[in-house]
Order: sequence, then structure tokens, then C-alpha cells
Amino acid sequence: MRFDIITIFPNLFSSYLEETIIARALRKKILRVNLVDLRKFAKAGDSHRSVDNRPYGGGPGMILMVEPIYKALRALKIRNRRKTRVVMLAPEGKQFTQREAERLSTYDRLVLLCGRYEGFDARVEKLIDEKISIGPYVLAGGELPAVVVLEAVARHIPGVVGHPEALKEETFSKDLDYVEYPQYTRPEKFCPQKGKCWRVPKILLSGNHAAIRKWRAQYHA
Ligand code: SAM
Repeated sequence: MRFDIITIFPNLFSSYLEETIIARALRKKILRVNLVDLRKFAKAGDSHRSVDNRPYGGGPGMILMVEPIYKALRALKIRNRRKTRVVMLAPEGKQFTQREAERLSTYDRLVLLCGRYEGFDARVEKLIDEKISIGPYVLAGGELPAVVVLEAVARHIPGVVGHPEALKEETFSKDLDYVEYPQYTRPEKFCPQKGKCWRVPKILLSGNHAAIRKWRAQYHA
């Protein structure tokens, strides 16, 4: 799957893409991430490489202009429109959920448009397929939402998660009310203070897999 991320801060993504499970998937060529610096599409001869301007009608802040975004999208040369989704990250967009991540993972290519300042010229909406919000709050830019969408979607691409069976039992994997059962690892007994110890539930040490499944199932309600 290919991701194109259009942003004025492409360097923000470097360390994230060089570490994490995404880095491994990039090395294995399961994923491809193309960072597009929106400023490259500023007006020719503009030494400031401006991509924003003041809002018509007045008001605070700056607005991302439609022209550089139009040019950036055109430069991507999207061929198969049916297998590509152009997504604007926007606080007022459709709420991003595990189901939405699964749905977006069925496309071959995802173009993520990161806003900044007071957001986009409204005409940018003519260039996109949908708007996605990662939650009902306002961030300073679309870069963190783009990383959230990238990681949540990429985890559904075969080969990205080391143990694909883990995906089946995860929180939200079955329905949005589903929460994964509690998990424990070594040590079996942890005593942070004298006289105060936290133990792993005995059932998990029993080796009785049927009983363990039953114990875990109580959390699936
Ligand atoms: N003026 C806009 C408003 O009132 O809705 C807020 C713009 S916000 C400061 C700048 C950019 O950050 C947005 O264009 C969007 O790309 C991104 N952004 C902020 N919060 C977001 C969220 N919850 N989900 C997705 N993108 C978000």
C-alpha cells in the first residue's frame, strides 16, 4: 500500500518512519510512504514559498491556499481513482475508528492532506474524497492525525504486524465495544513495596487452555 502525505513539515515524519513497525514494513516494501513538501508547489519566484494567505472577509489567522494543493495532487499522477482515496485531515471530519482504519486499508493508495494554521480554503474540498477527524479536539496541524491514520491503517496490511493473529483478539477488533482481556508477563510476582505484592492470576499459570479461554471470555462482554 502506498501513502502520500502532503504537508508543510515533511521532516516531522522522519524519525517516526525510521523506527517503529512502519520502518520494518518500508524496508520489506510492504508499504511505501511518499512525503510531499507542499511548499514546493508555491508560486514560482516566491522566495518565501508561501502556501497560505489571509481569509477573505477578515478574521484571525491564515488559510492554506487551494492552488498549491491542487498542483501537489496533480503532481501525484493518480491513475486508479477507484483504488485511491484522497483524505483531508480535519477536526470536523468523520470520526476515525478501527472500522474506518480497516475500510481505508482496502485501498491501494491513500493521500493524506495535512492542514495547518486556520485550515484549508473551502475549495480544497472539491479535490478530496473525504474528511477524517482523529477526535473531537483541535490540534495545530494534520501531521499527528496523519501518523495516527497511517499506523492504524497500515496494521491491517498483511505483513506489517509481526504476529497477525494478535489483530484478531485486539480491542475493537470484533466490535467497537470489545476490549482485549488483561495480559501479564514476567515476573509472576511483583512487590513494589515491602508487604505489597501484585501477582499474575493463578489461572494463567495453570496450563489449562480451556479454563484460560473461559477466564479471558469474561472480558468480552
Ligand atoms: N480552524 C479550524 C477549525 O476551527 O476547525 C482548525 C484548524 S487546525 C488549527 C489546523 C489543521 O490541523 C486542520 O486543518 C487539520 O488538518 C488539523 N487538525 C486539527 N485537529 C484535527 C483533528 N482532531 N483531526 C484531524 N485533523 C486535525
